[in-house]
Amino acid sequence: MSNTTFEQIAKVLRDYRTFAILGHVRPDGDALGSQLALALSLEQLGKEVRVWNEDGMLEKYSFLPRAELLTKPPANAEHVDVAIALDTAIQNRLGTTLAAVASAKMWINIDHHLSNPGYGDLVIVDSSAPATGEIIFNLIKSQGLPLNHDIAENLFAAISTDTGSFQYPKTSSRTLEIAAELVRAGGLDVGKISQQLYESYPRRRLELLREVLRTMRFSECGDVASFSLSLKTAEELAVLPEDNEGLIDHLRAVRGVIVAVFFEELADGKVRVSMRSKDEVVDVCAICQKFGGGGHTLAAGARVRGSLDQVEQRVLEEIRDVLNKRES
Ligand code: 5GP
Ligand code: MN
Repeated sequence: MSNTTFEQIAKVLRDYRTFAILGHVRPDGDALGSQLALALSLEQLGKEVRVWNEDGMLEKYSFLPRAELLTKPPANAEHVDVAIALDTAIQNRLGTTLAAVASAKMWINIDHHLSNPGYGDLVIVDSSAPATGEIIFNLIKSQGLPLNHDIAENLFAAISTDTGSFQYPKTSSRTLEIAAELVRAGGLDVGKISQQLYESYPRRRLELLREVLRTMRFSECGDVASFSLSLKTAEELAVLPEDNEGLIDHLRAVRGVIVAVFFEELADGKVRVSMRSKDEVVDVCAICQKFGGGGHTLAAGARVRGSLDQVEQRVLEEIRDVLNKRES
């Protein structure tokens, strides 16, 4: 798979009239911020833009500028010229938005997941980018597309969330320069955005953390840490899916831990597995791909059929195998 150029993408953005900008199911800050940023830039070009996600806008990201643009897809397909998938490693993670763009003449795929196979007509997959938001910034900047305060704030939120507030290893000097440029160009208030992103959780998220910490397990030598959330507990606490984002960081943050795993029982007989690695040598994307999932080397996930206990056992065994091979 070879990447197309920003010039080719910009030409399509300028030449066509109607667009649908899509992101992955269970969206995160990178997906939502990137979607809104690109949509607002296209809006400035006078284009007609839909911004769809299977889950719609999440409560915790509803402070993002023009958040109201992001909605669930309509039940019936709407005509758009171009469908643009952002931050979405495989097409079926677009969920119900896929059917809504059935008539699109052209597909653009912009992403930073290593496991992205390169679906679509015009593809940019840059796995060195810590966030899709960084690629969107590069597109906008290199092609002279519109950039204003609202676009800058959405991109800043996208990059901040996917780098763990500029901490994860893919955070480069370029990432920090882009952040600086966004702050300058948009006149952004970093303290305010960060408070909205990281210090505005509902109390139930902490109640959830208290419950999952009760299930915390460590491997004998402390290199694997995991915890889980049953459907029963999720129902009792009236948890929203978005409350889970970032909880796994508590496990990752423990000294000696190399792999952290969060198991979440889903209503469809599957378990959502969320995995993090602190060592480039331990590729959790490869581990998750064995279970039908994907992601990045250091952050990946999968949905695995089975009970919570079964999936925990199978996945933890697989991780043990990988770590043992590495040590031997
Ligand atoms: P998270 O653990 O935050 O849900 O996801 C971490 C990374 O793994 C994200 O980049 C996400 O796209 C990817 N990922 C999570 N779950 C799945 C999955 O079920 N399938 C695939 N292909 N990727 C996933
Ligand atoms: Mn991302």
